[in-house]
Amino acid sequence: MSDFAPHRARKRFGQNFLHDAGVINRILRAVSPREGQHLVEIGPGQGAITEGLLSSGAQLDVVELDHDLHPLLLSRFGHSPLFTLHKGDALKFDFRQLAVNGEKLRIVGNLPYNISTPLMFHLISQADCVADMHFMLQKEVVQRLAAGAGMNHYGRLGIMVQYHCQVEHLFDVAPGSFSPAPKVDSAIVRLTPHATLPHPADDPALLEVVVREAFNQRRKTLRNTLKPLLDAESIEAEGLDPTLRPEQVDLAGFVRLANRLKRQKAAEEQE
Ligand code: SAM
Repeated sequence: MSDFAPHRARKRFGQNFLHDAGVINRILRAVSPREGQHLVEIGPGQGAITEGLLSSGAQLDVVELDHDLHPLLLSRFGHSPLFTLHKGDALKFDFRQLAVNGEKLRIVGNLPYNISTPLMFHLISQADCVADMHFMLQKEVVQRLAAGAGMNHYGRLGIMVQYHCQVEHLFDVAPGSFSPAPKVDSAIVRLTPHATLPHPADDPALLEVVVREAFNQRRKTLRNTLKPLLDAESIEAEGLDPTLRPEQVDLAGFVRLANRLKRQKAAEEQE
């Protein structure tokens, strides 16, 4: 690294570099990469996690947007036949092209917080080629991802991610582990796409519509928030009390409501 002028962290790329060896090792133990696996790191930065991922003997592709970091990454890791650098935006990256012969990718990233939610959904849309994902995110986002019905932080993000993935909040990371230190606490989350969806919706787009409508006004009852979509009798017919608030309804309940809406729409189209 000594051949390079020190890199000035760029805010617009969400650059908070990990320097805490204890945290880096904990992440590596959580990921536990193995020879023969295929990993993809998003935003390797200066290589804090990259080094340990690569030394496991796993194949490692990295996607980094900041071109100032590309020479440094190539100089540190370019000698390894297992390492490939993709210069560009992970939000536009086709991860599927890396998964040859039906292999599943293991995704890792200390993510820029401003792109973390769209990136998760970009990856979820390619979940058929993903074995698991380990992300460093803002702690509050991890709490939202992991929350079940009735818990603080439960809402739209958690429901839509839990529809596709098992979510595990692994551990928290304090601001002092990064340089520069972010203003908020962080946490590591593991997302494992379900092999078979536990609560498949007949039309996932309608599930999104129902959940969005329900949480538009989270303090109101289902009867009120869902009025534009379903009446109280329909909600009750799906085994849910219409006076419940959306935050008390689990994923299975929302899927039943979305399936009801689908049947209702189909019946309307027949008329
Ligand atoms: N992994 C390094 C670490 O732990 O020290 C860096 C983490 S830093 C929070 C986020 C990294 O993602 C930066 O290197 C940044 O340049 C990169 N990045 C930001 N936006 C990106 C994008 N859209 N696609 C790929 N990389 C991106």
